[in-house]
Amino acid sequence: MKFLVAQMEHETNTFSPIPTPWESFGPNGPYVGDEVVRAMSGTKTPIGAFIELANKLNADISTPVAGLALPSGPVDLAAYEKICDLICAEAKLGCDAIFLDLHGAMVVKNGPLDGEGNLLHRLKDINPEVPIAVSLDLHANVTDLMVKNCDVIAGYKTYPHIDMFETGFLAGSILIDALKGKIKPVMVWKNSPILAHTLKMDTDKGAMREYVGLAKKLETGEVLAASAFGGFPMADIPSAGMSSVVVTNGDKELGETTCNKIMNLAWENRTRFIWRDIPLKTALSKAAKFEKGPVLLIDHSDNCASGGTQDTMDVLKIALDYNLDQIGVGPVRDPEAVKTLIQAGKGNEVSLKIGGKVDMPAIKKKGEPLQLTGFVKNITSGEYIVTGPQFTGMKMFMGNTVLFETDRAEIVITEKLQEPWDLGVFTSVGLNPTKKRYLILKSRMYFKPIFSTMATEIIYCNGSGVTSSDWKLFDYKNIRRPMYPLDESPWN
Ligand SMILES: [Zn+2]
Repeated sequence: MKFLVAQMEHETNTFSPIPTPWESFGPNGPYVGDEVVRAMSGTKTPIGAFIELANKLNADISTPVAGLALPSGPVDLAAYEKICDLICAEAKLGCDAIFLDLHGAMVVKNGPLDGEGNLLHRLKDINPEVPIAVSLDLHANVTDLMVKNCDVIAGYKTYPHIDMFETGFLAGSILIDALKGKIKPVMVWKNSPILAHTLKMDTDKGAMREYVGLAKKLETGEVLAASAFGGFPMADIPSAGMSSVVVTNGDKELGETTCNKIMNLAWENRTRFIWRDIPLKTALSKAAKFEKGPVLLIDHSDNCASGGTQDTMDVLKIALDYNLDQIGVGPVRDPEAVKTLIQAGKGNEVSLKIGGKVDMPAIKKKGEPLQLTGFVKNITSGEYIVTGPQFTGMKMFMGNTVLFETDRAEIVITEKLQEPWDLGVFTSVGLNPTKKRYLILKSRMYFKPIFSTMATEIIYCNGSGVTSSDWKLFDYKNIRRPMYPLDESPWN
């Protein structure tokens, strides 16, 4: 047996001003060839699961590329083509099966709006007989092109995503059983015109828990995989929205009824997928009343794990206006400030403008830096290994990183984008988050498995940014209409 295993992951926020070149897909671009096995085997990711499954069968494995870029604006066409070419060149050499760790919401700049569907189509063109298994993120905007050009799809059932490995393992195992002739997977999919808010996609709570829970319950017997996707709403493309993909053992009708049950539940519960914000000042005046920390201030409108610039400063600014103190903040991405602070050197006092370096034309907003005076408390290379449940064991690279201390706040400032999804974001630079009264986290959901357990309170702060939950800020032009809740009729 010879298996082709690859990863191409990007969630594209079409409103984000952050570019996505080749270099964004890994520490120095994607891992290529043998580097892939070295970097990805043993990780709790879908590609980690594919490698493990291949090893169990003693299959020969070719790994042309593994690249994962943090969410940002549309992917550079050259980067996309290079990744696809590496995978397709390997497919042309021949193999028995293909296992792909994809996201499902990749948009290419001046290229396809459906990066994954386009790649799968190219692979089926090369050899229609070679079966393909695909793992997708819960935020996939599924398309017909994707489903028609592969054989098995399984999506994450958790958000925050802590079942990446299990999802890869499920998709891979189904394909391997099919190769052995034990089963004949067939797929059915449906979508629903609901633009759900990411903040309402926590799979431990509310309507999302019920929606994903139903898929889990139905995934039994001849239903080999049932996935319930939340979709990625910050994508101005026709496929944005909720959907479901069901894989059965040769039973299309069972697939149809299962898929319908899942999507009917989504539609019945559509109002419960909509987030209602409170004004930022109200949130922070509420925060001022709490004595014991850490109180988490979730700066969800500037979440780099959804395409945020990670440098808006309004939550910290208003927190300081309200006299909050003992605040930990992070990470703020500001390569310019990092450079200035490194030049100043550890222990020295500096006055400088932090953040607000990136304009956000899609929401008609200019970057607004915050003038602060403080000390350079620590300088590191920004590397750490994840110990928490998301991306466990993976090495992370924040670029040169500075811990900047003012009288009321300690701010982690990085060169590169990084979501606070692990304690390492803070502890690697010497900030102990448990000792803070307030923690401003530029996060939306990934903070939960790690930081919510230590929190005395969680307050959602509607700052500015391209991951805002205020749909009115975004000028959707290409999304399919009518779309709930954007359109007044016929449903509101
Ligand atoms: Zn996701």
